[in-house]
Amino acid sequence: MARDIVDDRLIGALHLRALTRAGFDHDPVHEHQVVQAGTIDALLQGKYDSDITLAEVMRMGDLGIGTIQKLDGELMILDGHAWVAGSDTVLREVPLTTRTPFAVACMFTPSVTHEINEPMAWDDLTALIDSLAAPDASVVAVRIDGDFDDIGLRSVARQTPPYPPLVDVVAHQTTWHVPNARGTLLGFRFPDATAGVEVPGYHLHFLSDDRTTGGHVLSLVVRHGTVAVDDCDDVHVALPAGVKLGTPGVTDRDAIASAEGDHAH
Ligand SMILES: [Zn+2]
Repeated sequence: MARDIVDDRLIGALHLRALTRAGFDHDPVHEHQVVQAGTIDALLQGKYDSDITLAEVMRMGDLGIGTIQKLDGELMILDGHAWVAGSDTVLREVPLTTRTPFAVACMFTPSVTHEINEPMAWDDLTALIDSLAAPDASVVAVRIDGDFDDIGLRSVARQTPPYPPLVDVVAHQTTWHVPNARGTLLGFRFPDATAGVEVPGYHLHFLSDDRTTGGHVLSLVVRHGTVAVDDCDDVHVALPAGVKLGTPGVTDRDAIASAEGDHAH
């Protein structure tokens, strides 16, 4: 195991460990531990191929977001299934043999839940999640089941080599609008000190209950629903072949913000 650990460090209260794929496959599953395939910096550089499968990620996590091989859409992992929203706005379930250059997941074990009974847009919603999270929580996983209005979604198109950088792909992203839907909002809040390895700030995806729509969320209003928050203090990153961890916190934040939306500051 020791030789499979590529990097092991503390960032404030957060334990960040990078592992080889083999090390990741033997990594024990823990609650309040986030697992991740790849890094956002590698994705920004156009590294859209990976040797890590969704099955390997989902052994370690039942709630997650990301993308799949060749950047072929926006990924939602929920309740043992993996769904991808393509740039054609169509949602499809994908086999767990599908590979992923970037995915973040956890065995979702909420420490707190809260009922929302009045309409709340992005800023109020994320402020609420901040207030529900433990004051010292470094990474927060969140799941909100409810009714949503004015959902702004985006997805990106499957790429062919030579791959362009993510910012160029996102310049041609598909955005669409769902007037209202019952479903699940899921994702993570990462601290700025992990920028580059991760998307700092909130990164949320949506999956409708009827499994007809979903994607990377740009904006929305939650009408009512249940917020569940899982405070995490451990992140294990599986590095695909050819991907390095880099230096957490040292990255082009503007590039991440323009690729992942204005929320990623
Ligand atoms: Zn996303």
